Amino acid sequence: MDASEFRRRGREMVDYIADYIEGIEGRQVYPSVEPGYLRPLIPSCAPQEPDAYEDIMKDVEKVIMPGVTHWHSPRFFAYFPTASSYPAMLADMLCGAIGCIGFSWAASPACTELETVMLDWLGKMLRLPEAFLAEKGGAGGGVIQGSASEATLMALLAARSRATRRLQAARPGLTEAAVMEKLVAYASDQAHCSVERAALIGGVKFKAIPSDGKFAMRASALQEALQQDKAAGLVPFFVVATLGTTPCCSFDHLSEVGPLCNWEDLWLHVDAAYAGSAFICPEFRHLLDGVEFADSFNFNPHKWLLVNFDCSAMWVRKRADLTGAFKLDPVYLRHGHQDSGLITDYRHWQLPLGRRFRSLKMWFVFRLYGVTGLQAHIRKHVQLAREFEAAVQRDPRFEICAEVTLGLVCFRLKGSNKLNEDLLDRINGAKEIHLVPCHLRDKFVLRFAICSRAAESAHVQQAWAHIQALATALLGAGQE
Ligand code: PLP
Repeated sequence: MDASEFRRRGREMVDYIADYIEGIEGRQVYPSVEPGYLRPLIPSCAPQEPDAYEDIMKDVEKVIMPGVTHWHSPRFFAYFPTASSYPAMLADMLCGAIGCIGFSWAASPACTELETVMLDWLGKMLRLPEAFLAEKGGAGGGVIQGSASEATLMALLAARSRATRRLQAARPGLTEAAVMEKLVAYASDQAHCSVERAALIGGVKFKAIPSDGKFAMRASALQEALQQDKAAGLVPFFVVATLGTTPCCSFDHLSEVGPLCNWEDLWLHVDAAYAGSAFICPEFRHLLDGVEFADSFNFNPHKWLLVNFDCSAMWVRKRADLTGAFKLDPVYLRHGHQDSGLITDYRHWQLPLGRRFRSLKMWFVFRLYGVTGLQAHIRKHVQLAREFEAAVQRDPRFEICAEVTLGLVCFRLKGSNKLNEDLLDRINGAKEIHLVPCHLRDKFVLRFAICSRAAESAHVQQAWAHIQALATALLGAGQE
């Protein structure tokens, strides 16, 4: 493909994408394919000679689209949102064209410097404590990770390294293996499984703290676990507080847990993967109170802030905790400015070496929406969730299962878990809309998350009418 064909195909592709997004509601939100559907539809080897472009695009409709779950359909209410906006898509095209690998400042100065400034912009939108911003020339700063799971793992590994150094300084004969055996990480029983996984990968113990009646971690429960473990000769070192848990969007008591972590000298990581975007709205910022006690904080603009995947924003209070833990400097990666103290080499802040120019899409989105536009997006989703909650509350057959704070509603039919499992089967079987469940304690619960940028009140009302009709049929069938 030469430049002139690229221009033509590029225009066609932009049209295809715009048609896809505009017409997405007409597509079945969840595909009707069985596992293994794709292999028989394409050749078993790559073509020896080039294929025609037209044939590839025909196959996109024939082979790919039938197997796509349409996350951006306004009928998609599963998981949490994943962001999608035209400015982010355009910026991603440019990122692909520049195609630099920004592992060090020298490897592409704009890639590093825009990222640092975008993390400051975003940090200010959230009114993060100044200690986390790079602008003031302090010890903190921000970085884009690929996912919240990576951010948690990086925080855990940095915390492990800090704890090991401290323990070995206090007891010089102690081996690293002996320290690792004793280290314990903590999070609430509602935390995302990526926290336990980080502990598994990091080779340390993990303990789930029982959450309270509102599915939130309290300091008293954490303290009890810390005391028990210390009495057993273990060494607590790392706590994850979740703001906006995956099952029901509950909020750990950060203002209680934070001081305890500081007092006990534990690394506190705050995971606000979904909810973090809402903190740009003054009316939701109080949910972030207590972040001043954290060592690291992370949320996913790629969930709810219109910056397409992947873009997970992470800030640390002391960047030396990350860079000190993971720094290796082979000669082929060194450059003349690295010891100047003026620049950042982001390769020391993350697991992989290579990194894309992801800050471009933040820059495009922030500039083209403005903070006001982004706030409007968040507020609209919260409003739609409240509308759904109110509709559920008006139907006495249903109950709301957790407080609705942002864009997620947890609800169920009053009755057995089996009844609710059957209802979800019918909902997802009909493929009009798509939902996923969760467990809250021993209850099987349906989650209704406002996801699509295009979601409107009419979609919520249609979805609710559809759920009600399926519930009526299900309850009627039970009485026959
Ligand atoms: N943490 C929380 C609270 C989440 O809700 C999720 C995903 O929904 C994650 C972490 C994992 O996010 P990622 O896919 O970016 O690793």
